[in-house]
Amino acid sequence: MSVFRALMTTMTGVNSEKLTNERISNLFTAENHSPLLTRKRAIVILSRIRLLSLIAAIFFVTGILLDTMYFDGATFKSLVIFRCISAFMLLLLIFGIRKADSIQSAYRAMFIFFSANLVFQALFQPLVLPEYFQSIGDFPTAGYAIFPFLIAACISIFPLSIKETFLAVVLFLVAELLIVTLATDQLNPQPGLGILISLVSACALCSFSAISQLSYMVSLVEQASIDSLTNCFSRNSGEEILEVQFRIASRQNSDLTLAFLDIDDFKFINDKYGHEAGDRALSRAADLIRRNLRDSDILVRWGGEEFLMILPHTDAEGAARAVRRLRANGLGNRPDNTPLTASIGIADLQTAKAECWEDLVELADAHMYIAKTNGKNDFSVFTAEPEASQIASN
Ligand code: GH3
Ligand code: MG
Ligand code: MG
Repeated sequence: MSVFRALMTTMTGVNSEKLTNERISNLFTAENHSPLLTRKRAIVILSRIRLLSLIAAIFFVTGILLDTMYFDGATFKSLVIFRCISAFMLLLLIFGIRKADSIQSAYRAMFIFFSANLVFQALFQPLVLPEYFQSIGDFPTAGYAIFPFLIAACISIFPLSIKETFLAVVLFLVAELLIVTLATDQLNPQPGLGILISLVSACALCSFSAISQLSYMVSLVEQASIDSLTNCFSRNSGEEILEVQFRIASRQNSDLTLAFLDIDDFKFINDKYGHEAGDRALSRAADLIRRNLRDSDILVRWGGEEFLMILPHTDAEGAARAVRRLRANGLGNRPDNTPLTASIGIADLQTAKAECWEDLVELADAHMYIAKTNGKNDFSVFTAEPEASQIASN
């Protein structure tokens, strides 16, 4: 196990104490990535695909000039057609992913990008043989000889988990195996084997780079998005998450409820027992709130002693149930051992028919304020008729 940890430490550049199981699991698979990390990763992957596709399309077309120096007749014509088709596919890909930002679009775009390149290789390879294996020494055709290595190098450009990298490498090598063996003289498979072995080594190095990129990305997103005192999402990242959740819920017409929580008489703790006692109470309250939520719920530290619970696929009644459960389990104690309490406002998207997430937050905040002005330690739910917005005690 310690050998494994040492390996992970080398790979991630993160020192051993900070290398939590959660972080290791984030490197292994993308399944437990936070919505924020997933979105950031999708955006990075998609923007890199856009850049790579543009560069590849330019090279595919300008490469025709080099082809004129080496090939002629039917071979030249076919190569020009293959180059134009591949460049066109890549340009289509660039336009197709212009507005996308989901990880599914990123996977799809990566698949199309690698496929377009592999198809190009599969098409040109039989044509440029038998020169292919000698062609590395000739400037006009060297590009064809190193092409599989260029595709392998692209793997290193994406921040991928170990599982994703493994899958990408296996699919790539299987495709190469097919292309190289089908295009190689069966009586003499050595050159093909040589290329495959070199490709495996190149893939191993590129995988290392892809996984390291993910590791740095996990650290950066964590640093930028997690509040260090409470381990909740910070306000900035909370707003980004809200934007995504609001868009998903509006598009799918699904439930989304916000619960705004403000701790009661918190200033008094600071004033009487000091800031550190206040910090401890705050951090404990955040822990207890989180434990009461489902894995898919998101807890944001909205302000000093204000928290926003984002509850996707939950209606107001479901949120009220979660809040009753939270109130029953409590938020911990104040330094004088009396229970720490809070005022909570709930607003759901379907009832509020909010135009934007800001309106929904404002509504939840306004209902927190209603609970506050009604004597604190309570919660208030937004309902369609304002006069029916009830204060619901337990
Ligand atoms: P109310 O019941 O009306 O909400 O009263 P309150 O005292 O909780 O509200 P108020 O907004 O007046 O005070 C919030 C206090 O929270 C003031 C601020 O010093 C304190 N606070 C904000 N952030 C932190 C923090 O990170 N640590 C500590 N210890 N205190 C904080
Ligand atoms: Mg407050
Ligand atoms: Mg308060």
